[in-house]
Amino acid sequence: MRTLNWMVPASLLLSLAAVAQQPADSQPASQPAPTQMSAPANTPDAAQPTAPVPMQTSAPANAQPAPPPPAAQPTTMDQVVDRFVLREKGLIKMLQMRTPVIETYLQNLQLDPALGPVPKDDKYFLGRMDLSTSIDRKDYIPDDQSMEKHLLGGFSKLFKIQYQPLGFSWMIFADRNDFDRQHYDFRYVRREFLGEVRCLVFDVTPKPKSGQGRFLGRIWVEDQDYNIVRLNGTYAPRPRNAYFFHMDSWRLNLIPGYWVPAFIYSEEGDFSAGAKNQLAFKAQTRIWGYDLRKEGESDELTNIRVDSVKDDSPTAQDASPLAAEREWQQQAEDNVVERLTRAGLLAPDGDIDKILQTVVNNIQVTNNIDLPRPVRTRVLLTSPLETFSVGNTIIISRGLIDVLPDESSLAMALTHELAHIVLGHNLGSKYAFNDRMLFSDESTYQNLGFKHIPEEEAAADKKAVDLLKNSPYAQKLDSAGLFLKMLNTRAGALNALLTAHLGNNMTEGAAVTRMSTLMGSAPQIDWNKLDQIAALPMGGRVKLNPWDDKVELVKSQPVAITSARDKMPFEVTPFFPRLTRTGTTDSTGTAGSAANATPTPTSAANTNSPSN
Ligand SMILES: [Zn+2]
Repeated sequence: MRTLNWMVPASLLLSLAAVAQQPADSQPASQPAPTQMSAPANTPDAAQPTAPVPMQTSAPANAQPAPPPPAAQPTTMDQVVDRFVLREKGLIKMLQMRTPVIETYLQNLQLDPALGPVPKDDKYFLGRMDLSTSIDRKDYIPDDQSMEKHLLGGFSKLFKIQYQPLGFSWMIFADRNDFDRQHYDFRYVRREFLGEVRCLVFDVTPKPKSGQGRFLGRIWVEDQDYNIVRLNGTYAPRPRNAYFFHMDSWRLNLIPGYWVPAFIYSEEGDFSAGAKNQLAFKAQTRIWGYDLRKEGESDELTNIRVDSVKDDSPTAQDASPLAAEREWQQQAEDNVVERLTRAGLLAPDGDIDKILQTVVNNIQVTNNIDLPRPVRTRVLLTSPLETFSVGNTIIISRGLIDVLPDESSLAMALTHELAHIVLGHNLGSKYAFNDRMLFSDESTYQNLGFKHIPEEEAAADKKAVDLLKNSPYAQKLDSAGLFLKMLNTRAGALNALLTAHLGNNMTEGAAVTRMSTLMGSAPQIDWNKLDQIAALPMGGRVKLNPWDDKVELVKSQPVAITSARDKMPFEVTPFFPRLTRTGTTDSTGTAGSAANATPTPTSAANTNSPSN
């Protein structure tokens, strides 16, 4: 059964996961694909059967907000302004009950003569945002610096540059309290399409003496219900001792009638000749988990898991000691997966897991590994590069999948964890006790951990290399090694990206330790070789639906790389999601297309899956 399974998908995956190095392979490989992944982008409907449909899947316990009642179409621009001001208030009200997860990943930049601005160091913030009365956030990672929460949208310049996590979340709304004609002037500019959505564009300026920190910039308003779908600008005037940085904030139509904040890109810096700007950074802020249950809200029945061990054998008996041990592990595994999902850190089981499991299966089949229970995979929704396993579930972060250049490097990442499982390095059985699942979402990182001792890490690396050499990826390990080499060159500047929060780090100090022997046989990094893609920019591969947390692989259009500066390995790039409308009440054909709205890095490095 298994042996039949692996041959087809092994080649199928290349077309999905690989970058431009293999353009020729992907055409035939996409033919037998039973899954959504090979569906080319030229027929938008092809993705429909398997694309997540966020609208129908929300839990009944946490019902979706009702769409706003229909209103008469405005006939003048003044009426349009009144309408989007009203719609903005409606959005703020709807989101009051939500506590989405918010993540900001920031790279400080320095100028490299050959490569342009490159990361110098980085910072990472992850928290839950409470949108009830003002915008506030609780962070998963304790901040080493005091947080001046009320310094809006900026960072203090008093002693050193100190980023305010809250600042990056500020532009989810233009102005939470006073977005109206009394405080702002709105000037209509033109009509413009963003993706499939026709928008009216307005310049927004604060009225004189309307106070500090008012929105200054441009908004895009969709022309059906007049919701704001994009905000681009900054805040003004700025108070002393603080900056407001520039932001580009995007919303997605994930539920009928509302466009919810999903991505915010921030950038500062001037590298032109003569510029004396010490400040230069790029940051991506992502928001998801809108449908997560608010802490303590009708949670009593779900906190304690009682149904994870099912006995469906006809001659039920007490478990043998070994069987009991396995059931115990299974129970711990189920508890952890469920808890991480509820904390907004793990995507629900989805199509992307079929891809990941196929890769794992390829390794297992060719190495004759027969485990008592099948290996499962899940995607951690965060950016830092990490993998870990609990019981038989391998977990890999979205950020890591994003930057891996091809399937063999994905195999490398997963096989390390498979090796832990094969070697019996089971961690986390203590989580079979349900009391250990009772903690606040924000304290997840303090309560769960799956770090192995160095001896187990070394043993897993060694085993993993053996497994890979005996697998369909044996001839393609060069690219995995090249990926690690690139990681090695950038490791010193990417400490935050490389700090694992649940598993082991892939690096130590500023050097790659994970699977490091693969670097030995890899080719040299050649920046000027335009078809050598060692690693991709952040955010180019996995699309995340911020409403229901489902993930899938991106089908992005190939963009030609024209210079070394286009490669941007591990780098932050702007968001440019293709906006689409979710299914409206009278339309059945376009439902669920929210998943199509995905940030596409402007980078040319993301030249995967040629689709025509
Ligand atoms: Zn490990």
